[in-house]
Amino acid sequence: GAALAKGLEIRYELAPHPPLRADPRLLAQVWRNLIDNAIKYTPAGTITVRVEATPSQVLCQVSDTGIGIHPADLPYIFDKFYRAKRHGASTANGTGLGLALARTVIEKYSGELWVESEPGVGSTFFFALPLVSHPQPARLAERVLA
Ligand code: ADP
Repeated sequence: GAALAKGLEIRYELAPHPPLRADPRLLAQVWRNLIDNAIKYTPAGTITVRVEATPSQVLCQVSDTGIGIHPADLPYIFDKFYRAKRHGASTANGTGLGLALARTVIEKYSGELWVESEPGVGSTFFFALPLVSHPQPARLAERVLA
């Protein structure tokens, strides 16, 4: 929709991972907030959505080639109702609630949400969710017999 209208390229790099114990509607809301922001604050270029898995966590990223976030705003963007006023960011519509909600959801699942950004270059929002280690019957049997 909006991304297409702006001529943005959307790239997906989605690796398979074990299922997470989390409410899919809440995780979808996090993706929506991050992807909507990436589109909103990117006049031209590419949005990349990436998921990778390690044995201990699933790492998710939304990168954009947009206006970026001034270092002075960075500590506050996850606060309720905070909206950066630099680089014309305030010309986009918003409530300043999206990132606060996203962080609440991720922390509910013992995860972390953070950002790396450079003004004029772009932003990458990351969230990592822990993978609980499931009991492996075969390995447990080996351990009992050892
Ligand atoms: P908003 O409704 O204002 O987008 P958010 O809580 O989603 O509220 O984001 C807070 C602020 O963080 C935004 O107002 C904007 O200044 C900044 N921001 C969020 N995402 C991005 C992004 N991808 N690029 C640049 N600035 C961003």
